[in-house]
Amino acid sequence: MNALHNLQTAAVSIRSVRKVYGDPDSGPVALKSVDLDIRDNEFFTLLGPSGCGKTTLLRMIAGFEFPTSGEIRLYGENIADRPPYARPVNTVFQHYALFPHMTIAENLAFGLESHPMGQRLGKAAVAERVREMLALVQMERFAERRPTQLSGGQQQRVALARALAPHPKVLLLDEPLSALDLKLRQAMREELKTIQGKTGITFIFVTHDQEEALTMSDRIAVLANGEVQQVGRPADIYEQPRNRFVADFIGETNFLPAQVAELADDQALFRIPGGHALRAQSRDGLRAGAEVTLSIRPERLRLVDADSPEATPCSLVEQIYLGTDLQYQVSLADGTRLRVRAPNSAGQSQRFAPGQRLGLQFDRDSASVLLD
Ligand code: ATP
Repeated sequence: MNALHNLQTAAVSIRSVRKVYGDPDSGPVALKSVDLDIRDNEFFTLLGPSGCGKTTLLRMIAGFEFPTSGEIRLYGENIADRPPYARPVNTVFQHYALFPHMTIAENLAFGLESHPMGQRLGKAAVAERVREMLALVQMERFAERRPTQLSGGQQQRVALARALAPHPKVLLLDEPLSALDLKLRQAMREELKTIQGKTGITFIFVTHDQEEALTMSDRIAVLANGEVQQVGRPADIYEQPRNRFVADFIGETNFLPAQVAELADDQALFRIPGGHALRAQSRDGLRAGAEVTLSIRPERLRLVDADSPEATPCSLVEQIYLGTDLQYQVSLADGTRLRVRAPNSAGQSQRFAPGQRLGLQFDRDSASVLLD
């Protein structure tokens, strides 16, 4: 696909967007130069630590902030001159902001009637849309209640229904689950994903919670320091992190020093401490002999007897009981420490003793080379 085609078909296309608050020469830089294409009907997540610029990006799509330079297009149209209410976009905030003196149905109707996309609807059509939206979020029974008579999770569903009611093309969700307790958050994740699928609306979801991002998203953009670090499907981001930041931010990982031993097509062979070799996908710019860092997830390592074939010698430093899993820390001959995770199947916790000499096996395709 060429760049022009992308520009025309993306739901949201972000080109060289830079955002400096206040004085462009000396103010704080929230985003350096961001390029992103968010596809139609995609559940897309902006993921990153506090201060990385994800809310700033969302607010610029909504029209509450403006880029210092660069361009944002919605379905091919440059929206720079469109105020928030004239964009085919709606936002769900962390705080529900429902009117306490109105019933749930009135809150939805009011939201719809005051939105440009709902103004042309007659009373009957508004009432029908309100019913339809409350059904979508399974809140029909609560239509006549007031917000104070609902739990936090129920209020969040109403806020979601209200934002969906004008049928926006893009729904922006700014950490909408963070005020809910863990169990409710987990239940709402599944529901949000289902609602996105049913409505076909493009969802752009902001979170700092990697588990939330991995479980719900079609694709994720990982942001740090105002820059996009990686864009990909959850499995790509987890299995093939591009750099140290992404590998460390998403889940747990081990950093293993290695040397490039051989390069062949898209694969490379890496020599690791202890002399063994590991195969991994190559990267542009790798040279034979170069020192690199590999990322290997703890669950892709296995502890075996010291004399097992193809095992790298190690010794057990400690083991931690995690309930579903057991986590071991081992030390390689050169002192490199690695974490190993194994399912807590019967008897495993009894198997090893601190200081015991063991072997370490690496799952096939478990390593990824980090760029920096
Ligand atoms: P959080 O998860 O904490 O909300 P975030 O990733 O959403 O963080 P932003 O709110 O986009 O980050 O902020 C990015 C950077 O811009 C931060 O350094 C922040 O201090 C700064 N910033 C945000 N809003 C303003 C503002 N109105 N004026 C000045 N600086 C701002």
